[in-house]
Amino acid sequence: MKKTEEIIKKLSSEHNATDSELLHLINYDGNCDLLFDEANKTRQSVYGKDVYIRGLIEISNHCKNNCLYCGIRASNKNAVRYRLTKEQILDCCRAGYELGFRTFVMQGGEDGYYTDEVLCDIVFAIKKEYPDCAVTLSMGERSCESYQRLYDAGADRYLLRHETADNSHYKSLHPECMSLEERKNCLFALKKTGYQVGSGFMVGSPGQTSKTLLADLRFLQELKPDMIGIGPFIPHCDTEFAKEKAGGLEQTLKLIAILRLLFPYALIPATTALGTIAPDGRERAFRAGANVVMPNLSPENVRELYSLYNNKAHSGAEAAESLGILKEQAKNAGFEVVVARGDVKR
Ligand code: SAH
Repeated sequence: MKKTEEIIKKLSSEHNATDSELLHLINYDGNCDLLFDEANKTRQSVYGKDVYIRGLIEISNHCKNNCLYCGIRASNKNAVRYRLTKEQILDCCRAGYELGFRTFVMQGGEDGYYTDEVLCDIVFAIKKEYPDCAVTLSMGERSCESYQRLYDAGADRYLLRHETADNSHYKSLHPECMSLEERKNCLFALKKTGYQVGSGFMVGSPGQTSKTLLADLRFLQELKPDMIGIGPFIPHCDTEFAKEKAGGLEQTLKLIAILRLLFPYALIPATTALGTIAPDGRERAFRAGANVVMPNLSPENVRELYSLYNNKAHSGAEAAESLGILKEQAKNAGFEVVVARGDVKR
């Protein structure tokens, strides 16, 4: 206990720790109140009590990839595919703006329909209608040139989780044609282009160990992303990982707190996956250092189809139109949902 306490205090004051200290925390399964308190203090010293909201628009579930964990993988014949048009996406933004969203996140599978031309046109249209809003893209791996064109069209931020920073673990989660090296190249290209960049990983993905988690933390220290998104792995019935165990709530909360202490300035979301495995997951994430939440702004009839994992939450506090519930939850945890772009504070 004493040792754990000392490590937490050190992490909290130095925002770093040795490998063995971090491994100790990763493997620690005792009471985490001190860790959460320190993380919460650190978050409040940079971001106060503000919780930033992002309107998540899931623009397509077509995907050319075959990530072993993901329900919208190309080879899943049971997935009912959809994609949104420019007009549908703009309608989502209109509804979102009214509700108080000042960031729109467009996420999707790697869908060839969204060429640079098509996507730039959409980004440009959103920025033209809402110059006071940030546009975030989460459309997977693209060329440097493509990232540049989208940035020039007005995109501000890009989310691309590295998923795992361990080579052989990465190989075991992805098909042969994908590589950690390429994923990293994309992330560094995005930074170089000028985006605010988000990365992250799943907690409890099959084959994850304390060693791969340590590699994740060290890789993030190298990348220095503006946003860090983590959530539990949750199996999807139509994937090879259908029978695997989901990642744990406590382990996810602990890692959120560790990330907050390592990256005081980072924007860290309380993710939908966390809200899916526990009804109070979001509130507890706020108390453990998270300061962002991304409610679903997609047209209601497609929400069920963007099925990355089983039972993905898309109602209640996960739904943009039920922002009231989320505001209440944030308030109960001592925080406040604000109407703002919510840029990173470096
Ligand atoms: N095509 C985009 C968006 C992927 S979906 C891209 O490649 O970045 C967004 C995130 O959902 C992924 O990065 C992954 O970490 C997460 N995800 C996918 N399947 C999941 C599952 N079964 N359980 C939990 N999270 C999952």
